[in-house]
Amino acid sequence: MAQTIISVKNLTKKYGDFEAVKGISFDVYEGEIFGFLGPIGAGKSTSLEIIETLREKTSGTVTVDGVDLDKSPDEIKKIIGVQLQTSGYYPGLNLTELIELFGGLYNQTVKPLELLDMVNLRDKAKAKYKELSGGQKQRFSIATTLINHPKIIFLDEPTTGLDPQARRNLWDLVTDIRAKGTTVIITTHYMDEAEVLCDRVAIIDSGKIIAMDSPDKLIDKLVATGFERPKEVKKANLEDVFINLTGHALRAES
Ligand code: ADP
Ligand code: MG
Repeated sequence: MAQTIISVKNLTKKYGDFEAVKGISFDVYEGEIFGFLGPIGAGKSTSLEIIETLREKTSGTVTVDGVDLDKSPDEIKKIIGVQLQTSGYYPGLNLTELIELFGGLYNQTVKPLELLDMVNLRDKAKAKYKELSGGQKQRFSIATTLINHPKIIFLDEPTTGLDPQARRNLWDLVTDIRAKGTTVIITTHYMDEAEVLCDRVAIIDSGKIIAMDSPDKLIDKLVATGFERPKEVKKANLEDVFINLTGHALRAES
């Protein structure tokens, strides 16, 4: 049986009179890719930022790797990696220098090229962040989450706004990170992405978790109710056409 690494119980968050998170409970298991799915405004970022110690909760309990958020948030900070909002990088520094800077902040010895290799950005070592494509920016910011060798990383909509190839490259990266033993919590509003990537998902809507299971089991449950998708008339879709014309899924973005 998988070990629980994050346990959230009856978590609520109010912004003034508005309750953005309405008493959610869930566990994340060590080594899984856990998806937090839901429409914009559902309360995904609020919930994650509370677990990441970046936002105050209103009530409920959060335990991360056995550490109680209320008692030792600093202990939690040490074992997690959080993807920063992209605008926060010093514009004058190149990627190598940025990684060295972050290493210093975390008090970690870093090997910038190894880290850049992991996210397929070695050839951009001397480039500035603003010179990267959208997918490269996302990959770089994921690299920065790994600097302190975290047990858990949090990715909040890492693929929003990316083109299909960049999205697939990011899926590969997330899969690689998990293969090295890191637990991944990811939010997305793309269901195809969650189906490919996530071991389990929680579907959150208006601050409540309305379903939680593996994508496969959730689909089976729906099918068991008699649901049938309108018959597919074609064996491919426009995204298949696009990927087929512009190169294979694994092509590195330039
Ligand atoms: P999601 O990440 O699922 O899109 P959020 O957690 O960002 O959702 O937001 C959930 C709800 O809380 C939304 O209705 C949003 O407008 C509201 N909200 C988020 N942050 C704040 C804030 N700092 N002050 C007031 N309301 C907020
Ligand atoms: Mg959000």
